[in-house]
Amino acid sequence: MKMYVAGQWTNGRDSIDVLNPYDGSVVDTVPRGSADDVDRALASAERGAKVMAELTGFERYEILHRAGDLILRDQESLARMLTQEEGKIISEARFEVSRAAEILYLSAEEAKRLGAEVIPLDGGPGVKDKFGFTVRVPCGVVAAVCPFNFPLHLVCHKVGPALAAGNAVVVKPATDTPLMGVRVIELLLEAGAPEEAVHIITGPGSEIGDALVSDPRVRKVTFTGSRDIGERICKAAGIKKVTMELGSNAAAIVMPDADLDKVAEVLPQTAFANAGQVCISTQRLLATGSVYGDLIDALKPKVEAIATGNPLDEATGMGPMIRESDAARVGEWIDEAQAGGAEVLVGGGRNGQMFEPTLVTNVSPDMRLSCDELFGPAVGVTRVADIEEAIAISNDSNYGLSASIFTESLDSAMRFIRDVDSGNIHINWGTQWRTDLMPYGGVKDSGLGKEGPKYAVEEMTELKMVVMHL
Ligand code: NAP
Repeated sequence: MKMYVAGQWTNGRDSIDVLNPYDGSVVDTVPRGSADDVDRALASAERGAKVMAELTGFERYEILHRAGDLILRDQESLARMLTQEEGKIISEARFEVSRAAEILYLSAEEAKRLGAEVIPLDGGPGVKDKFGFTVRVPCGVVAAVCPFNFPLHLVCHKVGPALAAGNAVVVKPATDTPLMGVRVIELLLEAGAPEEAVHIITGPGSEIGDALVSDPRVRKVTFTGSRDIGERICKAAGIKKVTMELGSNAAAIVMPDADLDKVAEVLPQTAFANAGQVCISTQRLLATGSVYGDLIDALKPKVEAIATGNPLDEATGMGPMIRESDAARVGEWIDEAQAGGAEVLVGGGRNGQMFEPTLVTNVSPDMRLSCDELFGPAVGVTRVADIEEAIAISNDSNYGLSASIFTESLDSAMRFIRDVDSGNIHINWGTQWRTDLMPYGGVKDSGLGKEGPKYAVEEMTELKMVVMHL
């Protein structure tokens, strides 16, 4: 595939192989973009931003809505390519494709809703004969830096609102999974997006990232990825708007009054989807009071039943991790936990990039398996005394993206909602659940700002205040 820069499909000086994480085969190649490509894209995007700002809300709505239709038209081929480049099982890939269309439909609606607000200035002391209102305008050029794990869904969460708000956008997809981003740009152009309004530059973030995010022509950086790269981008970006969707080590608390059948049904989905490579995967399970033994007994057979294998095979329940080095790291953290007294109850084995779904018990909160972001298919179970300790351990993290509690007690649920440090909170579900219209984002090192088209459009626009002196 080529990248799309300054209105043209273009090759770089060199190319990069996109590998299938399951068997190492070459799925496709993409160009290795350079700082020169970034410069050309931004010069063009500045012109594209002017074109976008002149489109009416309804015209932007039509483009995004048509692009959603085109995603659904190509649903199955997109899903297969997504599985081949990322390694998630085909049913998860199909779901990601349908959500991508939904995000573009939601964004399309937001293009019609960039309304103003009348500000009652005469509420200020001594203010009379003034009329005030706000006007929301596009930022201009948005740089969208995307991670490997939802290469279609998260590109749409950035491109959809950016265009809805009347901006031009330059996408930098992850080098491991760039193909979905390229397909999104193709479909947007087919849907009628102005040719200088959308760009995609493939290539290593370490080589082109600084040139993109630090450039003053970019007025907004929206990033999803790891905490450390996020911090680096914030420093490089300087004074411009940023949205940071970063990592976590999400904890689910199980209270003694929880419905354990439900816990056992739900947790494997929320911990092992996409081989645990989801920012809100349930990584820590905090078993409160007497529930520890029953919880493990209920979960063990469910985790054992997850079949690993070829993610294109409909019978497979979990595919490979993205890179062998990450699978090896998961193994190291589990070994380290075992050396400290934890026990591997299910799984623990690795074959290349395929890491078995793993349940580790007797995990203590200071182990790396608990206190760092694992981003792999293992859950650590920790015994805690009561809800106070459970919430304290849940909060004892630099992160705060998602947290959950299983309980039949309204008091425990309300206390958890009040005291837990987390951007997303789930009662009687695992930490991994999202529908695309909701505000989504973390606290602490999990990030800044919110996604979800309605909220992202606010982040991708500037608010002007107008005062008419009558
Ligand atoms: P990553 O290594 O941080 O990479 C994310 C993106 O940043 C990639 O496109 C990467 O390019 C690029 N990049 C790397 N260095 C850069 C630089 N100096 N300047 C600009 N861009 C640079 O993350 P990942 O491994 O792809 O994704 C996993 C992480 O994303 C996890 O921490 C996960 O929790 C987080 N995540 C968060 C959310 C959320 O909504 N909060 C959702 C999904 C994932 P290359 O690929 O070329 O290195």
